[in-house]
Amino acid sequence: MAKPFASSADLDEKRQTFEVLADGVYALTAEGDPNVGAIEGEDFLVCFEALATPVAARAWLARLREHTDKPIRYLVLSHYHAVRVLGASAFDADVILTHERTRELIAERGEADWASEYGRMPRLFAEPSSIPGLTWPTATFTDRFTIDLGGDRGDLVLRYCGRGHTEGDIVAWLPKHRILFTGDLVEAQAALYTGDAFHHDWATTTLDNVAAFGAEALVGGRGAVARGRDACDAAVAQTRGFLDVMRREVGAVHERGGTLKDAFEAAHDALAPKFGQWPIFEHCLPFDVARLWEEYDGVERPTVWTAERDREVWERLQE
Ligand SMILES: [Zn+2]
Repeated sequence: MAKPFASSADLDEKRQTFEVLADGVYALTAEGDPNVGAIEGEDFLVCFEALATPVAARAWLARLREHTDKPIRYLVLSHYHAVRVLGASAFDADVILTHERTRELIAERGEADWASEYGRMPRLFAEPSSIPGLTWPTATFTDRFTIDLGGDRGDLVLRYCGRGHTEGDIVAWLPKHRILFTGDLVEAQAALYTGDAFHHDWATTTLDNVAAFGAEALVGGRGAVARGRDACDAAVAQTRGFLDVMRREVGAVHERGGTLKDAFEAAHDALAPKFGQWPIFEHCLPFDVARLWEEYDGVERPTVWTAERDREVWERLQE
């Protein structure tokens, strides 16, 4: 029996957990489905990530509205992936904020990514017809953007930490509470998707920059909230560990002149004992290894994933 393509056969709804991390700081996690968050300013809200469709986003907003009715001034999107951004219209935000590179990536590959992600994980796309089109940022930055939350709430600092999960990931940092929202740069007990990644930068300087915040609570892109310094450090270390095993295994096969299929099998065998049971491991790994392989081939920027290329790589590696 061939494995079903990516997560196309994963149709079971995940249990969502709504958490208040500090006064006015909220997170919704979902057993490995994409996480979202929100931060209250004195008279406005900042939302972090938008889910895959407006219908999916409205379910999250309904839960948030049990705690606050402040208007949404900023919708911050950590990177361009469809399951993070296509629900944006539900927020009715004054400003949609991303890294400058994310805007360019949406222009270059947003349409292809939408089709690719929908094919890979249709369950996340609740009522796909509710998506009005690509999500475009209305403001961008390159290094740092600080939002004064007003009153005694302190700042929310958006930072670029270097290339990682994509070319334009940003994190959101609340110094007052030492809470960090990392997007997909860190996952807590969920497998990494690295199909658009820069593995070597991510595993070294970028994660060093993320770790340097010294967070005491960390909301990763997927998986449970990490609470306490040890758990935050462990989430970063686990992410780095996954990348390091991939780099070692795929690098060794590339070095000795092996094939992409050999590299996939080596990475799979090395990762599966620790990570094999985590959400989306089998779904991600063919795409992850294909991207790392091209990095070892010297291809600077990730080749665009299309629905067709997804199937072709899957059939070569996973079946
Ligand atoms: Zn992503």
